[in-house]
Amino acid sequence: MGTQPLSYYKEGILKGDRRILAKAITLIESRHPDHRELGRLLVEEMLPHTGKAIRLGITGVPGVGKSTFIESFGMQLIELGHMVAVLAVDPSSQRSGGSILADKTRMEQLCKAEQAFIRPSPSGGTLGGVARMTRESLLLCEAAGFDVVIVETVGVGQNETTVAGMVDFFLILMITGAGDELQGIKKGILELADAVAINKADGDNVAKAEKTRKELEMALHLMQPSSLTWTAPVMTCSASTRAGLEAIWETVQNHHRRTVASGDLQAKRKSQSLEWMWALIQDGLQERFHRHPEIRRQLDRTISRVRQGETGPTTAARELLFLLDNQ
Ligand code: GDP
Repeated sequence: MGTQPLSYYKEGILKGDRRILAKAITLIESRHPDHRELGRLLVEEMLPHTGKAIRLGITGVPGVGKSTFIESFGMQLIELGHMVAVLAVDPSSQRSGGSILADKTRMEQLCKAEQAFIRPSPSGGTLGGVARMTRESLLLCEAAGFDVVIVETVGVGQNETTVAGMVDFFLILMITGAGDELQGIKKGILELADAVAINKADGDNVAKAEKTRKELEMALHLMQPSSLTWTAPVMTCSASTRAGLEAIWETVQNHHRRTVASGDLQAKRKSQSLEWMWALIQDGLQERFHRHPEIRRQLDRTISRVRQGETGPTTAARELLFLLDNQ
């Protein structure tokens, strides 16, 4: 891909040009060091124009109805006058249990809407790498004027923690009648929830969904630390009929108003930025460690010495880290 000068991307994004926004995200996702550097500079320059969106994370196991929900919820937001960006975090090569996240063909209406921008997960790479790209894309979407950014991820444990660390509000979608009501969603993940919604509460399923809602409400009540500002509600909805979606948006807005007023939102975003910085430092250090020529020469030998008990792990780590200090 040929790149344009920085000003091209800057001006395009600030004008809300979705095509240029998409190209800028391609820079961020590029493996090419020059493109990535341009992407980094762009994000840095855009920072003053970021921060105004409501950042909403959505997770749930495959089949729970994430795509359908985002399609309906997104369209509802657009009808209310919002601009909606949808991003995804899925390091498992965009495929999880057969579903592709932020898949445009599964969000047909939203995809056609002028007021929406949908970008599937960057492919390949580690969770850390994918998270970096999504986080930076989120900032560019904000600068382009999207005032609700949805970050979708599939429920497999680590992904959710990562996404919860980049959004203001974390919504877990669940369904009823799938055996264990917790559906493999670990306790630790439920603790991250700002709200839980039992989806597919339509037709014959309404009463069952309400029962699950009550059970989960009890469970969540016991699980989550009590907070003065927020208690995560458990709600029911139907992504198909749109029932309950308005109430979910009300909840998100209510949470936003409260956390802005209490200063919690600003504090959360600041601590997310710092955590992010440390994660990047850790990644950078690991990368330097593994690239270091002398370490590369000695690593295998050191590993086998530790395996055989000839060297203790502390000494081995010290020796290798000492090499890193001597470039
Ligand atoms: P994802 O894998 O979590 O993205 O789930 P999908 O959005 O692809 O939905 C999985 C299946 O559930 C599809 O067949 C949807 O049509 C269906 N589905 C999604 N939401 C609802 C809902 O609210 N009610 C009903 N009855 N079916 C739904």
